[in-house]
Amino acid sequence: MSSKPEDLIPYGHQTITDADIESVINVLKSNWLTTGPAITRFEEKLAAFTQSSDAVALNSGTAALHAMLNALNIGEGDEVIIPTMTFVATANVVVWQGATPVLCDVDSDTLLVTPETIEPHITSRTKAIIAVDYAGQPCDYPALHALSEKHGIALLSDACHSLGSIDANGKKVGSLALMTAFSFHPVKSITTAEGGAITTNDPELSKRIRQFRNHGIDLDARQRETSKTWRYQMTQLGLNYRMSDIHAALGVSQLSQLPEFLKKRQRIADKYRQNLSSEKNIQLLKVRNHITHANHLFPIRVPQRDAMYGWLRSQNIGVNVHYMPVHLHPYYQRMFNYRTDMFPAAETAFNELISLPIFPDLQHDAVSYIIERIIHYSVKQ
Ligand SMILES: *Cc1c(COP(=O)(O)O)cnc(C)c1O
Repeated sequence: MSSKPEDLIPYGHQTITDADIESVINVLKSNWLTTGPAITRFEEKLAAFTQSSDAVALNSGTAALHAMLNALNIGEGDEVIIPTMTFVATANVVVWQGATPVLCDVDSDTLLVTPETIEPHITSRTKAIIAVDYAGQPCDYPALHALSEKHGIALLSDACHSLGSIDANGKKVGSLALMTAFSFHPVKSITTAEGGAITTNDPELSKRIRQFRNHGIDLDARQRETSKTWRYQMTQLGLNYRMSDIHAALGVSQLSQLPEFLKKRQRIADKYRQNLSSEKNIQLLKVRNHITHANHLFPIRVPQRDAMYGWLRSQNIGVNVHYMPVHLHPYYQRMFNYRTDMFPAAETAFNELISLPIFPDLQHDAVSYIIERIIHYSVKQ
């Protein structure tokens, strides 16, 4: 493909196979549309994949982030540290729990939090850190774990970008923090249309999360049917954050394909790196040694970002920007007094960032076309 494609190449896109469709249809023909056996299958498969002892399915990544905080009783008077370079959902759930989101800067080469960017923000009110695996690269969890132990605070992970990534110590994301949140929105590693999950090795926490997703009730409908009782008790305040079996069946089928999806994403990322790394006006993000990247996003940094954005869009290349930092959003400026210039590494990156298309079915001639258009433009700069 050397000429402009007819349709916009999206920055991310789901891959749905016949096996996925059949898996969903089978649930529609069964007795359980929600809280049924497909949920159990999905949870068991996800726990095994992430080398964690338990997984709890929820109806979004945001619900997963919220449920993690609720499981720790985080509320009024508590502070939770999160990077400003993230999607707003990471901060919003802290506010919904009645706690204060304390934003911090990120390392300028990786855009990940480090002990150095977090530690100055720790106070006696800090209850947790939510590390964000920006673009699909795992943070340095052993280092973050040491910091959280030193201060007696919980280490949580927003791994909405990084399902399938592996830390330098060989451990899978999902097993590296006290609790880890995943999203299965269509652009993520696998999809359930909408959906999310938490993995943890702590059975008390997963029990609390299971109750929270079901109104805070101790027995769900299937458990009551199995034990032939109508009785249930509400033991904590909860919500309906349940995933349906239709969504879970798609998740089961998608998880089987995840290794293949990851390989395809890696090949695209490698091709971008090989072709763009020596361009003088283009800066790539640093990849930590010995990690396996999930390549959810492929952000590059360019000096004239908005001009580059306009040019690539005009060439039907669906680039995007991830993210405007949380502290620049009007809500966070109004409610929490955040201001421009507070987090220089994240802000400088934000002004230069542009995410190139990457998804398993992105064809290699399309990748070549994207590379050619980028170089064509940046040489003229
Ligand atoms: C996608 C995403 C979320 C939210 O997930 P949803 O499933 O859309 O609710 C949260 N944090 C990050 C970093 C994400 O990329």
